[in-house]
Amino acid sequence: CGIVGYIGRRNAAPVVVEGLKRLEYRGYDSFGVAIADNGIEVVKKQGRISDLGKSAISLSGPVGIGHTRWATHGVPNDINAHPHTDCEENIAVVHNGIIENYTELKRMLESEGHTFKSDTDTEVIPHLIEKYYAGNLLDAVFKTADVLKGSYAFLAVCGDERRIVAAKKSSPLVIGMGDGEMFASSDMTPVIEYTQKMIFLEDGDFADISDSDICIYNSGEKVVRMPEIVEWDFD
Ligand code: GLU
Repeated sequence: CGIVGYIGRRNAAPVVVEGLKRLEYRGYDSFGVAIADNGIEVVKKQGRISDLGKSAISLSGPVGIGHTRWATHGVPNDINAHPHTDCEENIAVVHNGIIENYTELKRMLESEGHTFKSDTDTEVIPHLIEKYYAGNLLDAVFKTADVLKGSYAFLAVCGDERRIVAAKKSSPLVIGMGDGEMFASSDMTPVIEYTQKMIFLEDGDFADISDSDICIYNSGEKVVRMPEIVEWDFD
């Protein structure tokens, strides 16, 4: 239902939790946060953000992703809440949308030895990234998107890399450009309090996001997306 990501000079967890609170108005059944900093730490739960805010805020690290879920595949419960991880729990993903071919992908991955924890369509994404990962998260996400059918906006992080990789197809995703920090979200409301400079990704876009740089790719080519300055009336 909603996604948030942060990379930069602040501690990511409080920024991500505050962002999730700003997405509350869209409604959700569960939520969660993953922090990447020499490994991945995940806190996720069915219920309200106020129930878990404190344990998520105590996580520490400069790279974080978060999710508010509106279940489409798999009942609302703690295990089906996002972020989802790979077998090694070194890759974490938050996803909005529906992976239409997840049943066949899950069968293929299981036959290759992957063990699934949840009943979601989303969990195929971190397992595919794990399958294709050879030291570069962006390359693994390119290969993963090649086999996905359906709609998605997703953010992926890896415990060994200081970056967030985003992919968008038929679900909204906006990148906020700060000073030595970057934000990603399904909605501009979590971003606007930090920066008005935003890039609205287009269908088929991938964004490789670091603290002070964003590279965007579409159809295997690097593309330029000019940031817009979003005016916002706080009154
Ligand atoms: N299809 C995913 C799930 O059911 C994502 C739902 C969402 O966009 O919140 O977990």
